[in-house]
Amino acid sequence: MIDKKDVLICLGSEEDTSEYHGAVLPPIAQASLFRKGSAKELLEGLKHEDEEFVYTRGTNPTVKVLESRLAALERGESCKCFASGIAAISAVFTGLLKSGDHILFINNIYGPTLQLAEMLTSFGVEHDTIHGADCADFEGHIRPNTKLIFFESPGTMLFRVVSISAIARAAKERGILTCIDNSVSTPLFQKPIPMGIDLVVHSCTKYISGHSDVVGGALITSESLMKKIFFRSFLLLGGIQAPFDAWLLLRGLLTLPTRMRQHQSDGLAVAKYLADHKRVRRVFHPLLSDADSELVSKQMTGYSGLFSAELDVADFDELCAIVDRLRLFGKAVSWGGVESLVIPSFGFDDDYHSDEIPKHLVRFSTGLEGADSLIADLEAALD
Ligand SMILES: *Cc1c(COP(=O)(O)O)cnc(C)c1O
Repeated sequence: MIDKKDVLICLGSEEDTSEYHGAVLPPIAQASLFRKGSAKELLEGLKHEDEEFVYTRGTNPTVKVLESRLAALERGESCKCFASGIAAISAVFTGLLKSGDHILFINNIYGPTLQLAEMLTSFGVEHDTIHGADCADFEGHIRPNTKLIFFESPGTMLFRVVSISAIARAAKERGILTCIDNSVSTPLFQKPIPMGIDLVVHSCTKYISGHSDVVGGALITSESLMKKIFFRSFLLLGGIQAPFDAWLLLRGLLTLPTRMRQHQSDGLAVAKYLADHKRVRRVFHPLLSDADSELVSKQMTGYSGLFSAELDVADFDELCAIVDRLRLFGKAVSWGGVESLVIPSFGFDDDYHSDEIPKHLVRFSTGLEGADSLIADLEAALD
């Protein structure tokens, strides 16, 4: 179920468009700098670069339209967009943490996020990672110097769900900040901020773009946390979203609700087909998991088209042969576009390979080709 209010936010239906001169889309402010009326106004503007248009490394009108829509979709106070999802995550870590602090990662996490945390150990920021059965006892892994709990739900590769409200509650009691990577659910199917989470990050490269033509990221949080991040790490790391790319992402948002409805229904149809296939051992999809069903219905209003399946094959070569026989599923990284994609998990990213991740796991991103065509393609490849 998609909130009807979110559809209007994606379309910008209720926005003040007086500055667009009646154009149906926001103009692209392809400018690096903005003139001010006087020397004093310029110097004053520099103190408020998070609010005023001074220099595009801080704030830009086109990017700001995207930021307002994403903040509204997540029900957050403030949003900044970034050159990539990993740039948004970098800004959270470097903007809020210092040497001696500890991050607790809960659930299976996107590999490069953990590689970034590993890189930060050389700057004195420590971390622990828990997944699988350990997630239930996450409080036992909180340390006196834990400053940030970072998690994914559904998690990378196995798409397991953890309790957002339990994490928010335990963190608040101890004054720990919480950040969720909400890329796979999109703000349409899961809203962590009203559930008590402090920060939400997105890889806009995926469903928000939806057309595999932009790399982008976003961070949504409170005004006070954003101020800290803006002046410490947004302006100084400089990983900004370019105005034209922001405009492409705005175009992506226009069809996000429509695309997500089809990604959801076709993803589910393909996952159910695979779950019943004799060459498939298990399917990992949040809406098909008995163990997670209670949490899913509590904290999600739907799900996207991304899931994985463990194939019943003798060895990795046999798995690759099946993947290679697929014609409609492109062999590629990333996900969330109109074209279906497939990737074997083994050898893709070693950070994913805790013992619980089966060796013969394949991840599918269900595109918009239509469930019947995709199922026919799988039928032929699995034969
Ligand atoms: C792709 C991805 C990212 C990183 O986003 P980029 O835009 O590629 O930097 C972060 N989190 C998840 C869950 C992802 O899949």
